[in-house]
Amino acid sequence: MEIRAPRGTEDLFGEDLELVVALEERFREHVRRFGFQEIRTPILEYAELFVRSVGPTTDIVEKEMFTFPDRGGRVLALRPEGTAPVVRAYVNHKLYADLLPVRLAYAGPMFRYERPQAGRQRQFHQLGVEVLGGEGPELDAEVIALGHEFLASLGLGDVRLELSSVGCPVCRPRYLERLREYFLPHRDELCPDCQRRLERNPLRILDCKLDRDKDFVREAPKLFDSLCDDCRRYHEEVAVHLTSLGIPFVVNPHLVRGLDYYVRTAFEWVDASLGAQDAVGGGGRYDGLVAELGGPPHGGIGFALGVERLVLGLKNRGIRLAPPRHVDVYVAAFGGGAARRLPLLFHLRRAGFVALGDADTEKVRTLLRRADRLGARVVVLVGDEEVARGEVAVKDLASGTQEAVREDELVAWLRRHLAQDG
Ligand code: AMP
Repeated sequence: MEIRAPRGTEDLFGEDLELVVALEERFREHVRRFGFQEIRTPILEYAELFVRSVGPTTDIVEKEMFTFPDRGGRVLALRPEGTAPVVRAYVNHKLYADLLPVRLAYAGPMFRYERPQAGRQRQFHQLGVEVLGGEGPELDAEVIALGHEFLASLGLGDVRLELSSVGCPVCRPRYLERLREYFLPHRDELCPDCQRRLERNPLRILDCKLDRDKDFVREAPKLFDSLCDDCRRYHEEVAVHLTSLGIPFVVNPHLVRGLDYYVRTAFEWVDASLGAQDAVGGGGRYDGLVAELGGPPHGGIGFALGVERLVLGLKNRGIRLAPPRHVDVYVAAFGGGAARRLPLLFHLRRAGFVALGDADTEKVRTLLRRADRLGARVVVLVGDEEVARGEVAVKDLASGTQEAVREDELVAWLRRHLAQDG
């Protein structure tokens, strides 16, 4: 029986992979201009890292982590998200001793045990940034604007930016108490998971896939309406800075992010061209996290974009990022020219051309057909007569014209010819 890739994972190759690689390269180039440096953390972490950061009552930790014991019995997890590992590295390597804030970017696979569907896999890829050791509404706006301009540079400028605030350790506990009181009379109408959440983390009820559309859940008091004065002012300043940078956004008081570590600024990018899974990215501020993981009381803010959903959004809009695969030159060697094939191919490749070719005892026509299928622009023909004269015949596949060129002038001829073609 044929063995398949695990459910919710996929092989990336061909045009899809080229698009993903192009996205990563564009992202690296983009964040470099904002002074970010790349960081690569392990794909495996101790599960405890996510329990302590993402939160023990979140869906990610309760249901979606791939965990397993190592041979020594410690529980490892395939990382479900990128922020906690980056913060762990910041603490472990005392990166905070450097000039602050520290600006880090990452790209790589994440794993969540979710029910696979369009735009939702068990292995997916994220592009993300984290700014550590800095705070203030201006910084938040800068990070959000960085993300938004990246999307715009891809042609996804119509993706909707939703902004909210999830409060702070002053106003959130007060709100949670209100929320618990509000839900208590509705206890029996909640799903079994949410009945548990009512005690441990009533905020989760608001984004429960089963309960969130029930009327009494929709009408529940909103965190955004219970913000303390400091949080409200902070949020308003973020909004002012975004406006001054010309970044369009809407305030979404319903926005609750599925990770516990966020404080104040929270945001999401929503792509209306996608189906049910329409969030292409999201992030927020996480001021307690560095200290929680054993570091100094430094603030942080970041976001992550989902590569697979970006790819879907680009395809929905007919946007192509990666140049189509192309071959500049095809070497068709026949008869006594067969021995010239490999030296010619390497000569051309060393000169920078994308070159492929075959030697064939069959008709030249067979070789020309292969060149055509590869999309080559020029065919270099070399047979007995050409070898005898130290020449090759060059044929432009688009125009069909053919001429003789001395072998030692071939590279110069191709440079001129391909440049003319554009
Ligand atoms: P989150 O860490 O949940 O805020 O996710 C950030 C972004 O990662 C989302 O907006 C999605 O684009 C992407 N993402 C999260 N989970 C998945 C998944 N299971 N499959 C594909 N993309 C995902």
